Amino acid sequence: MTIIEKISDLKKLRSTLYEGIGFVPTMGALHAGHLSLIQQSVRENDKTFVSIFVNPTQFLENEDINSYPRQIKTDLDICSRAGVDFVFLPSIKEMYSDSEPMVKVPKKKGYVLEGEKRPGHFDGVLTIVLKLLCLVRPNRAYFGKKDAQQLYFIENMVKNFHLLSEIVPCEIVRQQDGLALSSRNVYLDDEGKIEALKLSKSLKRASELILRGDFNSKTIKQEMMDILSPLRVDYVEIVDREFNLLQEVELKNTIILVAAYVQKARLIDNMWV
Ligand code: AMP
Repeated sequence: MTIIEKISDLKKLRSTLYEGIGFVPTMGALHAGHLSLIQQSVRENDKTFVSIFVNPTQFLENEDINSYPRQIKTDLDICSRAGVDFVFLPSIKEMYSDSEPMVKVPKKKGYVLEGEKRPGHFDGVLTIVLKLLCLVRPNRAYFGKKDAQQLYFIENMVKNFHLLSEIVPCEIVRQQDGLALSSRNVYLDDEGKIEALKLSKSLKRASELILRGDFNSKTIKQEMMDILSPLRVDYVEIVDREFNLLQEVELKNTIILVAAYVQKARLIDNMWV
């Protein structure tokens, strides 16, 4: 496995490669969720790139980038054991200059849900993903459905900017008890981990209601809120796959989303119906 820190080295290397390139962009602190994306890329491509970069432009002013979990040695071990060919590990200086354009999320959908609660976050995500896709030029790039709105905006950007990479959406990986894996789970103690189960439990309740034939968004959201109580809930929302709000669940076209605080962690989860 080759570790690349400089853009010039990445460009040189990339010019020697042809088809069959898979790419998994990450912010590190890798867990089994990241690993499933990596494994899928290794299975489906001749060469797999993983990037590890804690991207400053997607953190808001009140969010502490310095406390984001980092475990670079473990991450490299995980990548190496999974059969990754190249890890791109740039510094902030390598990725950003002090004067450059930013990608902006579309106004209409960019400022709801995560976009509303974390204004500017998706601009930072799209900017770094665009840079990385231009550098790595993968045939396929792998993103988790866990960050459903992020995935939507990335697909939208790739389509509208006519980028050549295929975006591959990957299933959410959970612990056995239902908790969606997240780098932010390290902020939780034992009690927090139990409290955090309320997110997946609320989604399970939603699926029970839907199986019973209850498609009304208001009812489903209310029952989810009851389960989430007393957590500080940022939002519970039911949208179609284009992120338009839905009054009624539409089978095979719905995403149910939840964001809530547990201890110091802001957690998100969702279910594709
Ligand atoms: P991050 O390091 O948080 O930026 O995540 C890198 C990629 O891993 C993103 O595409 C995430 O959606 C994906 N990811 C994070 N957690 C999970 C999970 N539990 N299951 C599947 N994919 C995930």
